[in-house]
Amino acid sequence: MPCEVKPRFVLLYGSQKGQAESLAEGIAEVAEEHGLAAELSCLNHNEKYNLETENAPVVFIVSTTGDGEPPDNALQFVKRIKEKTLSPDHYKHLCYALLALGDTNYANFCNCGKTIERRLQELGAKQFYATGYADDGTGLEVVVEPWIEGLWKAIKGALSKMASNKAAFVKGLAADSPRGAPDSTIPDVQLNLLRITDQQSRESIKAPAEPVSKSAAAASPPAPGTHAAVSDLRPAVPTGSSVLASRSPGASTVSASAPETPTGDDGRPRVSPPASLTRSLPPLSESSLNVPALPPPYLDVSLQEADPAGEAVGPSNVEALSAAPVCRAVQLTTGDSVKTALLVELDVSAHPMVTYHPGDSFDVFCPNRAAEVEEALHRLGLSDQRNHRVHVSLRKDTKKKGAQVPSYMSQNISLLYLLTWCLEIRSVPKKALLRALVEHTGHSGQRRRLQELCSRQGSADYNLYVRDCGLSVPELLAAFPTCSPPLSLLLEHLPKLQPRPYSAASSCLRHPGKLRFVFSVVEFPACSWRPAGRRGLCTGWLFDLINPVLLSPGEDESSVSPAPPKIHVSLRPNHSFRPPSEPSAPFIMVGPGTGVAPFIGFLQQREQQRKDDPEAVFGETWLFFGCRHRDGDFLFREELEGFVSSGTLSQLKVCFSRDGHEEEEAGAGASSARPRYVQHNLLLASRPVTDILLRRGGYLYVCGDAKNMAKDVNNALMEMIQTELQVDQLEAMKTLAALREEKRYLQDIWG
Ligand code: FAD
Repeated sequence: MPCEVKPRFVLLYGSQKGQAESLAEGIAEVAEEHGLAAELSCLNHNEKYNLETENAPVVFIVSTTGDGEPPDNALQFVKRIKEKTLSPDHYKHLCYALLALGDTNYANFCNCGKTIERRLQELGAKQFYATGYADDGTGLEVVVEPWIEGLWKAIKGALSKMASNKAAFVKGLAADSPRGAPDSTIPDVQLNLLRITDQQSRESIKAPAEPVSKSAAAASPPAPGTHAAVSDLRPAVPTGSSVLASRSPGASTVSASAPETPTGDDGRPRVSPPASLTRSLPPLSESSLNVPALPPPYLDVSLQEADPAGEAVGPSNVEALSAAPVCRAVQLTTGDSVKTALLVELDVSAHPMVTYHPGDSFDVFCPNRAAEVEEALHRLGLSDQRNHRVHVSLRKDTKKKGAQVPSYMSQNISLLYLLTWCLEIRSVPKKALLRALVEHTGHSGQRRRLQELCSRQGSADYNLYVRDCGLSVPELLAAFPTCSPPLSLLLEHLPKLQPRPYSAASSCLRHPGKLRFVFSVVEFPACSWRPAGRRGLCTGWLFDLINPVLLSPGEDESSVSPAPPKIHVSLRPNHSFRPPSEPSAPFIMVGPGTGVAPFIGFLQQREQQRKDDPEAVFGETWLFFGCRHRDGDFLFREELEGFVSSGTLSQLKVCFSRDGHEEEEAGAGASSARPRYVQHNLLLASRPVTDILLRRGGYLYVCGDAKNMAKDVNNALMEMIQTELQVDQLEAMKTLAALREEKRYLQDIWG
């Protein structure tokens, strides 16, 4: 049989945490269904593609990391296309589409995508489909899904345009070109503009997905022996109407007549339970669903009995890490109404990271919680094989494009080690995982709910019950008791366990051989499927680890002396978030809560420099700090006040968000409203702050919570610039952008 050759397109991704990569893989997987062949490659693998001669459409999927930086595996590519020596027609033969992933909570939203796009255009490339800017802050899928839906038509449009241009070109060549002219036909591809923000157009595009009939939750009873909770998993029946009523003609579950309002034994109407992770309400529970295509399996996994002796302990890259003993651990906060914050001091005298600089962070490598690993083993039915070696290979028949065995699944590790140190078993389940789990779920009501959660129609429920509450995979499995995935499926879908970065809260000029950091314990509150609440993975682990050596505020060090625990760490230098290199430059620091950490390092360094060189001229320093209560979580209070007394810190502006505001809330004293958050104090100091930034060549550093604080501070700065310079919002934005460009407005934020 002749083999049909599908038109090809090139699909390139740059991905830090795997989101862009898995989206690109998803696109590659369904390309065939659209009659196209995707050539998938990571941007850094430039031996696999050649943009210099490429004449097929090119699709880029790129994320952004840090302070607007390209992901590691796109760095080389970005560097290459930024070369000043490239001519403006370098890519004039190229037509491209680009999907940029970012998070509006961070500065420089989608910066890597924007940079690539700008350079492609400067180098003559033509866009064949409007760029999508997906925001992780509000849900990537809001933009990603319609963008992908529209991509197929756009690629086909680009291909046919290119083909007709080529035909015209070839004709022209035959007529009037000398033979041997370069075959770099330049398609003038029309823009196929999809308005990503236009809800209507988004909804009008049909998804290339499997339709699932309405109310597939068919009231089939749970399989014998399954969990009692499954009865809760049927879509809720709305009082007075039928979920299964004739909306799905032909379906076996359709009920011809609407049932009466359900009543209890007492004859009163029964109230339907509210929607939840496991229960949907109309209209979703009645809706036909478009679910994503089933991700093709790609791993073969086998287990082999082996002697557990000699098994590695600690993180998989342990040779590259420093195992630093904890020499001091202090609780910095008191009281229940504040987040617990702790200071840890590590002895790094035996390690190269002793040369860290203020502003640097370092990665902490922590394991998954033993109880959750046990639960996962139990759920997989593999508790007895915990010490077996795991052999992972590629399935010979896999349809997954560019499938590879993840490098961190080395062949000589036990199942227990793999689950403990290699996989982020707490990760929030992606829609692709939910989709894959449907195939391994016994109860039809549970299958239907999983289908809903990964469907286009169920996006709001996915955001509410999965994404926003940080649902973990173990929690999901606990809520869907008839779901029994094989080990290979979890290995295919769980990302690599990531280290957690923490900012250095010390200077090695002040504490030679020591490294301090501060963390606040992340708490996930209890809810219906998380009865006990839980702590963040790393902060919960650190808390338990240092607990035996923990000092309460003011407690004497000599009173605690068990063997010090060790933490595996590696340095993450930050070359831009550093105190100004010229000591006379004034600088402003904004760091509420644990965001104050790097500034303690800045100030310790400055204090030492002042001692070492009393004649030198040092610029003004300002710190804006904020916390809840003066007596609960004013971190480093004594040390900060000491910096003020010594003249190292020129201005300390502190605000308390929960102290003394009661009367304001009750309506009294509003006129004397106290600053509550750091941005309020910034506004109060608008004149000197803008003077430092705009007239005296000063610097501004912001560190801490990305979710609200960094944005609020940015807005306050805009307002201050508008007022002080008497300019409009656009001008103020440009001024801030210029400060960023000059690296005088710097952020180190997380969320
Ligand atoms: P995880 O188990 O990873 O959970 C945290 C995740 O859950 C976050 O995505 C968060 O948004 C989300 N989340 C938290 N609470 C909820 C909730 N109630 N519902 C739903 N989702 C929730 N942290 C510090 O404390 N001090 C520092 O100095 C510091 N410096 C950093 C420097 C850098 C460069 C970066 C990138 C981060 C820094 N962090 C710092 C953050 C730190 O790396 C960890 O992210 C943090 O400690 C939480 O880790 P965890 O494993 O305990 O939480």
